[in-house]
Amino acid sequence: MATETYDQLVAKAREVRLLSGVNGLLGWDQETYMPPRSAEIRADQLALLAGMIHDRVVAPEIEGLLASLEKEKLPPDRAAVVREGRRLYDRERKLPKELVEELARTTSRSQEAWAKARKEKDFAQFAPWLEKVIGLKRQAAKHLGLPGQDPYDALLDEFEPGATSAELTSLFSTLEGALVPLVKKLALAKKKPRVEILERHYPRAKQEEFGRLVAKDMGFDFEAGRLDVSNHPFCSGLQPDDVRITTRYREDDLTGSLFGIMHEAGHGLYEQGFDRKYFGTALAEPCSTGIHESQSRLWENMVGRSRPFWKHYYPELRRVFPEPLADVSEADFVFAVNDVRPSFIRTESDEVTYNLHVLLRFEVERDLLSGKLAVADLPRFWNDKMEKLLGVRPPDDAQGCLQDIHWSFGLFAYFPTYTLGNCYAAQFFATARKELDLDSLLARGELRPLREWLRKKVHERGGFFRPKDLVKDVTGAPPSSAAFVSYLETKYAELYGL
Ligand code: ZN
Repeated sequence: MATETYDQLVAKAREVRLLSGVNGLLGWDQETYMPPRSAEIRADQLALLAGMIHDRVVAPEIEGLLASLEKEKLPPDRAAVVREGRRLYDRERKLPKELVEELARTTSRSQEAWAKARKEKDFAQFAPWLEKVIGLKRQAAKHLGLPGQDPYDALLDEFEPGATSAELTSLFSTLEGALVPLVKKLALAKKKPRVEILERHYPRAKQEEFGRLVAKDMGFDFEAGRLDVSNHPFCSGLQPDDVRITTRYREDDLTGSLFGIMHEAGHGLYEQGFDRKYFGTALAEPCSTGIHESQSRLWENMVGRSRPFWKHYYPELRRVFPEPLADVSEADFVFAVNDVRPSFIRTESDEVTYNLHVLLRFEVERDLLSGKLAVADLPRFWNDKMEKLLGVRPPDDAQGCLQDIHWSFGLFAYFPTYTLGNCYAAQFFATARKELDLDSLLARGELRPLREWLRKKVHERGGFFRPKDLVKDVTGAPPSSAAFVSYLETKYAELYGL
């Protein structure tokens, strides 16, 4: 009886997952190949699908199936499927269908408005759309939240189950205390990297060739995935056998595309690593957005910007670009890809200042949602805060508050998952180093053992655990920023000779 009920629940969940894959495919297309005049119809298509998915998630028979399974003694995997099924059902049921459709329609259009405003460096064009999106997100938070709950927490729970803005405030205050002085110390260091070596002429086709090689060595399966170009790199997991990543190329920037590829391939390995027999259920879904981000950061930074990695790959890179790298030693190169300096653009920033960019966004969106900060005042608030944290002031809004696509998408309370990802990644990486002879493996270009370790410890388990429990299970300790801060302090003291 329980088995039959469980199978019915899974069949329903699979339908939802199939539809959300279609939704993801349309979203991927919008960011890659869609002709511009298709924007309006695409918005209607996405809104219609969002409504259809919503209807299926909250279908009346789901409550009955969940309630009956909750009375049974189930094996742990099935119990986790039911637990997460309940979470999704309860969350989605609180949202009126009209609001879901309105959010999908508005955010699809506001992405177009954002892209144009950013291109023309004109915040005023985007402001009314941002106002609209915030209004809708406030309504969503009201429906989702418990009485008296901070609207930010209600939205955060979608991405990072169990996390609160109070925890984030304390995490960011610890990081600010450690990172602001570290950035200042590095700025004063006499030893400086030759960053100019990365800004020579590097033909795009060769960049792509090298990026594909590294992604393949990482274990990204190109028979079950693609690599394309978009404005804002992303990874779209339509299903474990169709995982699409993107990057962007600039011929005067050697490593932007590569680290973009390693980042997105790190996400992609997670998606390709889900256990297919659980497809449609939470066990073949990411544990949380922060855990997802830990996988990308670990590959991009802890592997991709490490000395052992380049011991093997620098000679390869030199074979691809013999001329521009002729006078560049391996040590020069490793130092240059780890240059730390205050800058305007989050996605191009280094590992140390990155989290200060996130801290700024956390404060902005918390205050926008609560109404403490008016949309019209955003550019000034942004620029002032940048100056306080990093000592630099953006010359225009394209390099300031218009740089990220997230808010136009309706992604509020999402940015902090980047920093949580950095912290989780450092904890996972420190544990992997204890359990594998990681430095020697990386130095030989053997990336697969790390992928296998992550697959077993993180990928295959999907949403079996909640994020805090997963970190504890894998590393033996609860989540904290200690491993991350210690990783940064050790690495950069050595690089800068402090
Ligand atoms: Zn990411």
